[in-house]
Amino acid sequence: MAAEVLSAAGMRVDVFDAMPSVARKFLQAGRGGLNLTHSEAPDRFLSRYGARRREIGAWLEEFGPPQLRAWAQGLGVETFVGSSGRVFPQQMKAAPLLRAWLHRLRAAGVVFHVRHRWVGWDADGMLRFTTPAGELRVGADGTVLALGGGSWARLGSDGAWLKLLTARGVSVQPLRPANCGFNVGWSEHLRQRFAGEPVKTISAAFVAPDGSLIKHEGEFLITAQGVEGSLIYAFSAALRDAIEATGSATLHLDLAPGRKLQRLTDDLSHPRGRDSLSNHLRRRAGIDGVKAALLHECVAADDLATPARLAASIKSLPLRLVSPRPLDEAISSAGGVDFAALDKNLMLQALPGIFCAGEMLDWEAPTGGYLLTACFASGRAAARGVLRWLKAATPATP
Ligand SMILES: Cc1cc2nc3c(=O)[nH]c(=O)nc-3n(C[C@H](O)[C@H](O)[C@H](O)COP(=O)(O)OP(=O)(O)OC[C@H]3O[C@@H](n4cnc5c(N)ncnc54)[C@H](O)[C@@H]3O)c2cc1C
Repeated sequence: MAAEVLSAAGMRVDVFDAMPSVARKFLQAGRGGLNLTHSEAPDRFLSRYGARRREIGAWLEEFGPPQLRAWAQGLGVETFVGSSGRVFPQQMKAAPLLRAWLHRLRAAGVVFHVRHRWVGWDADGMLRFTTPAGELRVGADGTVLALGGGSWARLGSDGAWLKLLTARGVSVQPLRPANCGFNVGWSEHLRQRFAGEPVKTISAAFVAPDGSLIKHEGEFLITAQGVEGSLIYAFSAALRDAIEATGSATLHLDLAPGRKLQRLTDDLSHPRGRDSLSNHLRRRAGIDGVKAALLHECVAADDLATPARLAASIKSLPLRLVSPRPLDEAISSAGGVDFAALDKNLMLQALPGIFCAGEMLDWEAPTGGYLLTACFASGRAAARGVLRWLKAATPATP
């Protein structure tokens, strides 16, 4: 995005990437349908960026969801709004969009250099790259770093830049998993029988240590180590912070969101005769399979045997999460370059002429298209920052 804005302004632009091809994470996002952005109202959209809504709001004023959709259309990719309000390309793929985009950038004169790993600056301020042909030094009037966060390192963004920037006096927050799964510590039985099973159409609630209540509906996946998936990601920032603060976090699952507690209690209070608990649960409460297994896993036997307590457990099953899954498995990272280290043009105060964009900045957002939208918008904002900075540095002609 930065390359697009700069080349449109007549700048010569070179893009360097450490990987053998560019935009690997973007292509990976395409495997999930490429959720480009979201169609919800601007206020709600902005609220997704939490503490950073003010800074990101400024980027989105220039390039928010409508502009992003128009931009994709300009590349021949129509978008549609899914039932959840999320916006996807019609083809639910990243490759056609990326192909058209790279073609247009190259036609505008942007030069791509792959297998060029940026490793810092030399004593004269030249950018240093390691390449298959040896080390390369490059001078630039302005530099935009868009090095990504620290998840899925095999796609290119490995967070190695943190050390390079901190060594130059740039304040950086450690990278932490965002939109991540969590470890639970399942019994052998649950792990063996149910790892890989989705838990569908439930609702979940979490009371954060500060007393605030978060609720979402959706589905998640049982994994060998714990839980992951869209419903879990929606809570993941709050869960991660609570685990850091208190050592664990308990999510309460409502396994039967369509039924009232009283109705469930009445249904489960029917004498079960010679019926097994499994049959009783299935017949009276519609609970079986993985949901029944979760009840057995998380609820004491005494409570399972008492209809009122069983019903209460179905409506509010305590699932104790002990730690987030590692950063490399997360969809995105929290942490990165401190906003206080940047000026309003996204230029590093400690390194004039060096700008930053994308996930490497210290913000986070849930899944829903908010990540790509802010990355795109910040790339454009950084490029406009470069143009303003270059203009201010160029003496006016008499
Ligand atoms: C599985 C998955 C699915 C996702 N799906 C979605 C989705 O549907 N919607 C959404 O909004 N977001 C999604 N995301 C998140 C989104 O893809 C990222 O937030 C976004 O790609 C970040 O963009 P970026 O340009 O900041 O960093 P990246 O896309 O990570 O790009 C950084 C680039 O910098 C290069 N690089 C790093 N270090 C160096 C170096 N030293 N020298 C040279 N090059 C270097 C890397 O090779 C890489 O190409 C998904 C993420 C994952 C992992």
